Amino acid sequence: MNILVINCGSSSLKYQLIDSGTEEVLAKGLCERIGIDGSVLTHTPAGKDKVKIETPMPNHTVAVKLVIDALTDAEHGVVKSLDEINAVGHRVVHGGEKFASSVVINDEVLGAIEECNDLAPLHNPANLIGINSCREIMPDVPMVAVFDTAFHQTMPEKAYLYGLPYEYYEKYKIRRYGFHGTSHDYVSARAAEILGKTRDTLKIIVCHLGNGGSVSAVDHGKCVDTSMGLTPLEGIIMGTRSGSIDPAICDFICQKEHLTSAEMNSILNKKSGVLGMSKVSSDFRDIEAAANDGNTLAEVTLDAFYYSVAKYIGAYAAAMNGVDAIAFTAGVGENNVLGRAEIAKYLGYLGTEIDAEKNNVRGEDRVISTDESKVALLCVPTNEELAIARQTASLVK
Ligand code: AMP
Repeated sequence: MNILVINCGSSSLKYQLIDSGTEEVLAKGLCERIGIDGSVLTHTPAGKDKVKIETPMPNHTVAVKLVIDALTDAEHGVVKSLDEINAVGHRVVHGGEKFASSVVINDEVLGAIEECNDLAPLHNPANLIGINSCREIMPDVPMVAVFDTAFHQTMPEKAYLYGLPYEYYEKYKIRRYGFHGTSHDYVSARAAEILGKTRDTLKIIVCHLGNGGSVSAVDHGKCVDTSMGLTPLEGIIMGTRSGSIDPAICDFICQKEHLTSAEMNSILNKKSGVLGMSKVSSDFRDIEAAANDGNTLAEVTLDAFYYSVAKYIGAYAAAMNGVDAIAFTAGVGENNVLGRAEIAKYLGYLGTEIDAEKNNVRGEDRVISTDESKVALLCVPTNEELAIARQTASLVK
């Protein structure tokens, strides 16, 4: 079965066509600048050269049409016609409390996703536009919504309720939801597989460390806590997001700098994190290079980042009353050899021993702890598109 995986943003659309039988990526690509001048589609068919198509994309429906044309093109296409696209899996950021798992899309589901727009105003409306555009162009192809929040819906109340008046939960559903759920689900299952065990026998901590980052506690296959909250702003220090801070800081800065709450929100999301702290970059490679050149602020920033991850690992080892495996994933988690080693330095009390030679690997599935280590450390590249394709295939069969 060929599954088209769609990840739609407000002005972009990423896609992959995956054969769910072989799990091979037949083609992938990206539409950029949808609705703005200079729209471009970059299409990469497996085993063929990348093509760049510069043509106006006034809206997402036009973009989806171009993607289908590229996939079925005589020269750089990978299937003969639309009939060979058997289902579409859509990444949807927020499923609120309504969706604890992936679901086949119908009008009722669309309405329920729309009701979650308030909780993710930047993401859910764009995801809905992507779904509607695909339905317009492929009305007979079954579609599935896969939610970033769904995997975390197993958290108990004690983990998802904030220390706020309960009425805000009752009125507005303000609580911890967590994000990157598809990745935490995929990586925890894969970590168990690499260890030759089943996930329902293990206590696993997943550190998804990318430009955005989150840590989760997966106890016998179920998420029991995660670092992101109502929005993806809470938790560890990230590329441009502050992570958890004293909430009173917002009012303090707003008063001193005469900022509105929207401006403050933008600073917390876009100008904070390692970018704001280091004054260098949001890219960990640049900060590492600056630290190596003797930039002490860059050095402190990296230390603060590693420390913030280590603190969540400690918290989640406590939450699960132990931990069997800790898996690192996403851009930084998969590639930053030094970062994993620095985080592991904080974990000696757990009986954890990293193996410097095994850890010297980028983007490869493997155990990176010694045979004697009481807790297994792993590097596990995430693959959210494959996870979406698998869930889509299982629901439309
Ligand atoms: P992601 O959001 O998962 O795509 O991750 C993006 C982040 O991965 C970027 O901020 C990079 O700093 C980081 N990254 C990628 N490769 C490396 C590397 N070799 N060393 C350190 N960080 C890396």
